[in-house]
Amino acid sequence: MDDLVSDLSPPAEASGLQTAPGFAVARVILKPRKARPFFGRHPWVLDSAIARVEGTAADGDVVDLISDTGKFVARGLYNSRSRIRVRLYSWDNTEALETEFWRRRLTAAVELRTRLGLDDVQGAARLVFSEADGLSGLIVDRYGPWLSVQVTALGMARRLDELVPMLVEQTRPRGIFIRTEKGVAAAEGIDLRDGLYWGQSPEGPVFIVENQLRYGIDLAEGQKTGFYVDQRENRLAAAAYMRDRRVLDMFCYSGGFSLNAAVHGQAREVIGYDSSHKAVLLARANAELNNVKNVRFEEGDGFKSLDALAASHQRFGAVVLDPPKFARSRSSVDDALRAYHRLNRLAVDVLEPLGILVTCSCSGHVGSEDFLYMLRGVAEQTGRDIQVLAMRGAGPDHPLSVTCLESEYLKCFICRVN
Ligand code: SAH
Repeated sequence: MDDLVSDLSPPAEASGLQTAPGFAVARVILKPRKARPFFGRHPWVLDSAIARVEGTAADGDVVDLISDTGKFVARGLYNSRSRIRVRLYSWDNTEALETEFWRRRLTAAVELRTRLGLDDVQGAARLVFSEADGLSGLIVDRYGPWLSVQVTALGMARRLDELVPMLVEQTRPRGIFIRTEKGVAAAEGIDLRDGLYWGQSPEGPVFIVENQLRYGIDLAEGQKTGFYVDQRENRLAAAAYMRDRRVLDMFCYSGGFSLNAAVHGQAREVIGYDSSHKAVLLARANAELNNVKNVRFEEGDGFKSLDALAASHQRFGAVVLDPPKFARSRSSVDDALRAYHRLNRLAVDVLEPLGILVTCSCSGHVGSEDFLYMLRGVAEQTGRDIQVLAMRGAGPDHPLSVTCLESEYLKCFICRVN
């Protein structure tokens, strides 16, 4: 009898595990006193929290997270190569991580953007934002009828063949591109080739409309997934303060803040700088596309250009600072804050009295409070008052999950400097 049972049962069931698709093949047991954040729905289980793995899990497999007292905590995907050993997706023991589960999550994500009115096929929007949409490791941006997919978790990379048809069904794109960040791919063991994954390539740039302005986007070569969609609302909000002002847009990329300032803000004149030659060419092309005459774009390092502008006594009625991420890890926060301080100080030096400073940070490790303290230091050292008029973040298509505050990253403070 015993023999018969073991013959009929898959080995995992003998240890009490279900092996239906989407259920766990192994159990990841936490160390004592490590379960709390995961009962609290935090989705990243680091290797340091794990006591052992019972059963064998291959990378990308579904596993159950179990407390040291044997309680089910959550269900997730395993990756032995990543510091995030398990990414959690469900806290419901009866829920399988299979096709219908992923479809429900994707549908909920896409539905939010539709409700936000971001489903205009001419526009751009982030359709899926990783943890914030319960899909840790998957980012999907829509640029007109094309999708750009960024995969930051091996478990998602392994499921692309399942996820892509769902995206096709729900958004009817013309083509889907894959973009991976090199560092992330290496850290996760993702082996994906960048480029067209499904459908057709656009001939040349893709054109999108944002805040009634047109932009050309290079899906294959552009920065990030091609455009900084997260600043959509901030570009318009900042523009509202720029009437008749001379505006400096530092780290301008494809010219988003500049064009909004010139067209919606009625700025007198706008000068944008970026150290990337390609970015400057994109920005110039976008100005032309919108027939905007009072903006110009120059190639230059942000710090050096500000230094040079200050040295030649140039003054501006508004300065936008939107630098790249300065803090890549927690340990680099102090260095990052020093760099933000220096940059903001230089910006204040070229600002007229009662000028507008739009200062951004996309370093997730630098919190809003740290950023405010940094600005306080700038006020102290320059002897200029800084009034914060608005503390803004990314647009609503980049939601923030309160159980994964690490996904909070973008700050955009609009200030007046006396
Ligand atoms: N403001 C832009 C996004 C900026 S992203 C928008 O609204 O779309 C940051 C930009 O900083 C990138 O375009 C990058 O090329 C540029 N950059 C990086 N290092 C720089 C440096 N040292 N000086 C000037 N620009 C830099």
